[in-house]
Amino acid sequence: MNKPQKDFKILQAQPKRSLSQNFLTDEKPVRLLLEAAGITKEDVVVEIGAGLGALTKELVRKAGRVIALEKDEKLAGLLAEQLKEPNLNVIAQDALTWKPPSGKYKVVGNLPYAVATPIVRKFLEEKNKPESITVMLQLEVALRIMAQPPKMNLLAASIQFYASPSFIAVVKRNSFWPQPNVDSAIIFLSKIKTKTETESRSFFRVLKAGFSQPRKQLRNNIASQLTMEREEAGSWLSGHGIDSVRRAQTLSLEEWMKLAKDLKSG
Ligand code: SAM
Repeated sequence: MNKPQKDFKILQAQPKRSLSQNFLTDEKPVRLLLEAAGITKEDVVVEIGAGLGALTKELVRKAGRVIALEKDEKLAGLLAEQLKEPNLNVIAQDALTWKPPSGKYKVVGNLPYAVATPIVRKFLEEKNKPESITVMLQLEVALRIMAQPPKMNLLAASIQFYASPSFIAVVKRNSFWPQPNVDSAIIFLSKIKTKTETESRSFFRVLKAGFSQPRKQLRNNIASQLTMEREEAGSWLSGHGIDSVRRAQTLSLEEWMKLAKDLKSG
């Protein structure tokens, strides 16, 4: 399998913690991630944080075309040199500022942990959204994304508003070099939905209001954040079949959407 240590000797460099550089040294997670992503020759794949190519090497064999984004110019340069495949474009760029191509594409990657959720959010909010997102990130973040009522959280609702998440597998910390302090997990986001600007604005307005003080009763958060009287907030919630003393974490996505829809027209 991969020998990132050897590549770093060639580069005469050290992995950068600031870029969350932990490289896969184990083949099993690569296989699991690619199986979950269901990549075929029909697919254009955008890989985030290609690094030294642990996933890229397999992706170029399975996909029609691979666009590999890597912020670290030295790593991007080495990868492009070592993996000269006609269906591969290595781009030395920050994934957060990169514009996806037109046409269909799938996102895959062992994400840089420090910016894993902003990257997922960025692609879910793109005008041209991916067909699916299959990524490795911190286990704890993956579990937060998967949460359901009565243990919902702001991140889970924000992601599930756009896509259906599936938990694929835990990846132990000893699958990486250098070894991180936490375990990882693979998740698969599918059924990615297009939302209008108004839909998402109202949804996030009500959601953020609801979660502003998660331990407080919903009516208090709604009243203070959406400038309503407490009673008014209470009857607005009960008018939608939501008991106003519930906590934000107990609401389902459908309930948030119902409130958001009313906020839009109200
Ligand atoms: N794919 C490789 C692997 O699995 O071995 C490397 C994964 S490592 C966890 C994350 C990679 O993302 C690093 O190579 C890092 O340099 C790169 N990276 C960090 N921030 C980035 C960003 N904003 N955009 C693109 N790549 C980034």
